[in-house]
Order: sequence, then C-alpha cells, then structure tokens
Amino acid sequence: MSQPFVHMPAILMVCYLIVAVMHLICGVSLINCRFLLVGLRKMVSLSAPFHPDPEYRKFQSDIPRNVEAILTFLDLAPSTKAYICCPLCFCLYDHHSGKAGNTTFRCSFSKTPTSPPCNAKLWNKPPESKGAKPVRLFYYHELEEWIGRMYCRPDMEAFLDRDFGSRRQHSDADATWDIWDAPELQEFLGPEGDPSRPFLM
Ligand SMILES: [Zn+2]
Repeated sequence: MSQPFVHMPAILMVCYLIVAVMHLICGVSLINCRFLLVGLRKMVSLSAPFHPDPEYRKFQSDIPRNVEAILTFLDLAPSTKAYICCPLCFCLYDHHSGKAGNTTFRCSFSKTPTSPPCNAKLWNKPPESKGAKPVRLFYYHELEEWIGRMYCRPDMEAFLDRDFGSRRQHSDADATWDIWDAPELQEFLGPEGDPSRPFLM
C-alpha cells in the first residue's frame, strides 16, 4: 500500500486533500477543481514572502493543474478498462481513446450466424467526426488488479488469517457480520463433519 504523504510538505498535503475531497465527496466538477487549484497555487505564492522557509515558494509549482493528477498521486481510483457497450444488446467492443481508437460505428453482433446484425449505433456521430463519443461505456475493473489492491490493504493479511471458528464469537452472537456468519455456510460441513472445518474452507 502506497503512502503518498510520507515525505510531502504539510502545505501541499492540505492542498491535495482539499481538492480531492471537494471533487470526490462534494461533487465539484473537474473544471471547477482547476479553478480551485489555480487559487491554491496563488495563495501559496502570495504567502511565500512571509514564510521563513525559502523553499516554500517553489511549493506552488508542485500543486497540479488538474484534479486527475491528484487522484493518480493518491492512488484512490482503481485502474479500469473501458469498453464501448452496445445500448441495445450490450455487446462489448474494445475502446481506446485517441486516433487509434475503435471506429466501429454500428453494432455487428448477431444472435446466430444467420441472424441480422444488431446494427445499433455505438457512437453519437461517426467516430471520425469532431465531438464524437461512444453512446455508452462500460468500465471493467480487472480481477487481478482488484485482488491485488485488496491484498495490499494493511489489515487484510490478519483478516484472512483469522480463526474461522471465531467468526461467530461476537458480542451479539445472533448478528450476522459477514457472509461467513450465515448458518447455511457454517453448517455446510466437510466429509469429517467437523464444525471447525466447514466444507467451503
Ligand atoms: Zn448491439
């Protein structure tokens, strides 16, 4: 798990957190976050003459110009793969932004080899046109990447190593805290019939 703030000056850390929170929690748009970042850079610049640290002035150039750079730095957003999704049959097509992108305009999926193609529009206008964008995008979080991020969480190893038999030893034994507390899983025993070794474990 990365620790992006370990060697970061406090003033930069505050700026990063302000913009990230405004965008992710308060819903401030990407464009408005750019304005916010310009304002923060200006504030750092104006306050530099009054700061005892001569290095303080250069911090303004370390404040990114867009929130995307901050989200990448904080490693908050998982990496996803975008597919163009047919709005009619939900067939997926590879999508790469830029000139080398997918230029399939209509869906070519057929239910059977002799069926007519779906033919639904995949783009709002011909893909080579200015302002063309896919009608619908589907973002897929790669399973390996998702598992990797989950395993990197600080408490995950202890969680996976915990004693299975202790899962129901909560103060409220009747409460279900996660899926493994379900009686159907707890009582689905292996060939030994040992309650401490349910079949699924
Ligand atoms: Zn289709």
